[in-house]
Amino acid sequence: MSEMQNIQWFPGHMTKTKRQIQASLKLVDAVAEILDARIPLSSKNPDLQKLIQNKPKVVLLNKCDMANQTATSRWIDYYASQGITAIAVDCKSGKGLNKFAPAVNNVLSERRERLKAKGMVNPMLRIMIVGIPNVGKSSFINRVAKQNRAKVEDRPGVTRGNQWYSIAKNIEMLDTPGVLWPKFDDKIVGERLAFTGAVKDQILDTELLAVRLLDFLRSLKPADFIARFKLEDIDLDAIDSYELLNVIGKKRGMLISGGEINTERAAIMLLDEFRSGKLGRITLEMPER
Ligand code: GDP
Repeated sequence: MSEMQNIQWFPGHMTKTKRQIQASLKLVDAVAEILDARIPLSSKNPDLQKLIQNKPKVVLLNKCDMANQTATSRWIDYYASQGITAIAVDCKSGKGLNKFAPAVNNVLSERRERLKAKGMVNPMLRIMIVGIPNVGKSSFINRVAKQNRAKVEDRPGVTRGNQWYSIAKNIEMLDTPGVLWPKFDDKIVGERLAFTGAVKDQILDTELLAVRLLDFLRSLKPADFIARFKLEDIDLDAIDSYELLNVIGKKRGMLISGGEINTERAAIMLLDEFRSGKLGRITLEMPER
């Protein structure tokens, strides 16, 4: 099996992306950072804080339907302890989206008061969505847009081409998200993004990736995973992950001629089932104590 490679990201692309975000940031008062609730650390952008400077921020822990509920609560508490408002959302069902506007209102309240003190009556405040690829930015914007039908017209003074959705009284959201890059020079981050399908499979060895995922699953021992592959009779602490991949392949009857187990097929199936949430609600990263 080959070594895990770094995630591909073109430097040209990154520079352009950064410029676009910097331009959009000039138009907004706050930022909503979308993270994957299963991997809140690896789905972060390492330079976001530097880019947004002191603008208020809301964290959206998306895909919470696939994350462990206790773990998500711990993340929300962790962010609260850092003075950051975080909410759990699921753009598939729309769960949690009703908490978005109140959260935005909350982080913008200080700014609103300051503007009012300067004599502005009902100032319009704006927010933009940012996040790494595949974290659910478009899904989120589409959902919120559907709930808030009226798209706000282009206005003079606002950069042409920018569209805004009204999300609450005197709060608008930019319709185009800022695409950020992950910490792509970190192999562990790359691996975890690959588990969730956020980066393409072909740049990573499928079997190796599945074995690495099994390292997690062996230590976390999620009940749905054990039940799904009928692993009740297996001592997950005693077996190694490659052997376990063989066991799983065998249980699913994935054999090649000669009775050998097709571990490649087993790996693809395991990753597919993890990505679609069939192995249960699993969070791979917890806040540091
Ligand atoms: P973007 O690249 O950040 O705009 O991400 P997309 O909005 O295109 O979403 C990437 C994938 O994640 C799509 O297949 C979505 O259907 C899926 N997705 C987005 N949000 C959720 C969610 O809350 N739960 C689940 N299960 N899937 C989601």
